[in-house]
Amino acid sequence: MYPRVVINKTKLKENTEIIVNKAKAKDIHIFVVTKVHSADINLARICLEAGVSAVADSRIQNLIKLKELPCEKILLRLPMLSEVEDVVKFADISFNSELETIEALNQAAMNQGIKHRIVVMFDLGDLREGFLPEDVDQVMPLILKNEWIKVEGIGVNLTCYGGVIPTPDNLSELTALANHIEKTYNLTLNIVSGGNSSSLYLLDGDSLPNRINNLRIGEGIVLGREAAYGEQIPGTHDDAFILEAQIVEYKFKNSVPRGLIGMDAFGNKPIFEDQGMIQRGIVAIGRQDVDHTNLIPVDERLKILGASSDHMILDFTLAKSDYKVGDILSFKMEYGAMLKLFTSEYVEKVIL
Ligand SMILES: *Cc1c(COP(=O)(O)O)cnc(C)c1O
Repeated sequence: MYPRVVINKTKLKENTEIIVNKAKAKDIHIFVVTKVHSADINLARICLEAGVSAVADSRIQNLIKLKELPCEKILLRLPMLSEVEDVVKFADISFNSELETIEALNQAAMNQGIKHRIVVMFDLGDLREGFLPEDVDQVMPLILKNEWIKVEGIGVNLTCYGGVIPTPDNLSELTALANHIEKTYNLTLNIVSGGNSSSLYLLDGDSLPNRINNLRIGEGIVLGREAAYGEQIPGTHDDAFILEAQIVEYKFKNSVPRGLIGMDAFGNKPIFEDQGMIQRGIVAIGRQDVDHTNLIPVDERLKILGASSDHMILDFTLAKSDYKVGDILSFKMEYGAMLKLFTSEYVEKVIL
């Protein structure tokens, strides 16, 4: 069946091992973030075998899929008030930044007779989730009033909304907060979580503050890439995940449409460059399954021209005589493409 994503188990395992070992050398444990592949349990298992300490995901439905794995489950996205019962039931730890939600989790935890652990998030500038650091002494006493909640640690998320890069400076703010909280409130923080794949580049130097002992890694594991500067991590593979799609039309046609140009299927007015006649081909996949701007043809002679809901059009001119209808094309992918491919029920997933 096509289209399909083919996952190379060995490459995924090697990517994971390289990152886990780099982190271990700095006393940092890794949560593998599974949301990019919709929490495929077999892929999560491979990462566990390679040494990650737990699985983490944004969606409680995904943690439910992983419930039989012999490890802790961490909910990364702030819980919705409407899901606190499930969060207590299916997540060992959740990330939080709202008192009201922590109180609702406390109530749910009491109802179920299970103590719920949380990581308190601080916003160090990226402007996604987190309490502001200057509010720490206002919120901590109120959080600690919740008897069924245990503060397991603190964390920060960067480079997701604001594009702010983790640095020794902003991460020392996190470790200063950790020290302050431990001293002032007489508790031990087991987790000081210093970010996502954008923090990986700091593992190379000596610049990651000592007190940080956890990172949550998605992209770094699946694509072998650190996310601050987009560099490939030495030794890792960027092709552990390959998309395969089949050619359904292969014709010599004009490079510019003929007729009065209105809007394309997505309401944009397309612009074309006249290159005369070119060898064009259509593969059976589209925007319903993937963001085509995040795909890279393995054959570098091919160029993706565009896509509608379920057709993707390529320029084959430089490789004209090497392809025909029915052939399978392979593509490497960026994070955004992978996210969508795994969400599409029309795309088969095969682990080899
Ligand atoms: C998605 C997510 C991650 C993982 O991000 P990557 O860049 O894929 O490593 C880590 N932490 C949080 C809170 C997330 O939402």
